[in-house]
Amino acid sequence: MEKANIDWANIGFGYMPTSKRFVSNFKNGAWDAGVLTEDDKVVISECAGVLQYAQTCFEGLKAYTTEDGHIVCFRPDLNAERMIDSCKRLEMPVFPKERFIQAVHDVVAANEAYVPPYGSGATLYIRPYMFGSSPVIGVKPAQEYQFRMFVTPVGPYFKGGAKPITIRVSDFDRAAPNGTGHIKAGLNYAMSLYAISDAHRQGFDENMYLDAATRTKVEETGGANFIFVTKDGKVVTPKSNSILPSITRRSLMYVAKEYLGLDAEEREVYFDEVKDMAECGLCGTAAVISPVGKINDHGKEICFPSGMDDMGPVTKKLYDTLTGIQMGRLKAPEGWIHVIK
Ligand SMILES: *Cc1c(COP(=O)(O)O)cnc(C)c1O
Repeated sequence: MEKANIDWANIGFGYMPTSKRFVSNFKNGAWDAGVLTEDDKVVISECAGVLQYAQTCFEGLKAYTTEDGHIVCFRPDLNAERMIDSCKRLEMPVFPKERFIQAVHDVVAANEAYVPPYGSGATLYIRPYMFGSSPVIGVKPAQEYQFRMFVTPVGPYFKGGAKPITIRVSDFDRAAPNGTGHIKAGLNYAMSLYAISDAHRQGFDENMYLDAATRTKVEETGGANFIFVTKDGKVVTPKSNSILPSITRRSLMYVAKEYLGLDAEEREVYFDEVKDMAECGLCGTAAVISPVGKINDHGKEICFPSGMDDMGPVTKKLYDTLTGIQMGRLKAPEGWIHVIK
């Protein structure tokens, strides 16, 4: 298969239309068979539920070319399950898990020319999403929905290696207790845009959100979960029901225990403890792990011993092991790698 004429090493993290995307419509209580289409435009009512009351959710995962030339994706079953949870919370119809995985398979296979080659640092980002497409003016769930999935090649998240970032403790809240923080909904992002733009204006890369009820416990950033490494080498990640359950974070915790023989614990993490941590990182599909070098708490700085030049040593091991599994350099746990070709 001839690859698309793309300068793989120099593409950014942006959208580029590819040849095919998957579309299925929900009408009269059922999903249709769905199609792969070249049409990259969505045509819906001016009064569609998504446009009036933000009834929409999404997922994000990646496909990779492995060292031995296969095209694979990473744990799509968990994205399917998480999207089902998001849909239920938003009164949207669920898209069946097996059909979701099949759609991932078909969309990636149909866009093989856009799967970046092994070693380029680039990957194919897959974006499944669903929205209420029929008119809604009185507040209620839409009657009709569209499920779509497109792919776009994305460049290496960090050009020239992962440099530690500086984040600030935010005065804004991301998620209410018993709210929607645990689902992957656009609404959680719309309301975070002011906070992130404000952080950028103040010279910070990201916001650290604390729990909204007590402002004493670490939650997450706008789009990535935290992992910390304690000074005695234990991997710790915050536990809260208003955090989005990151698949990267869950995978890293497994890797810490089963591949690296480390203690790994999901528990409440008080902000007061953070100053005593040895390493800090943000995890998500896009970057796998972004190391955090410094946290600014209203002018008071917490500088991690790992510094501002490199990832901490444990973070680096976690990163290398998980990306090794994804790229086929290390043996994956049963069921983690879905082979497309
Ligand atoms: C998607 C997302 C993450 C990362 O999840 P992954 O499954 O690892 O990509 C973390 N936090 C939020 C708020 C997210 O939306």
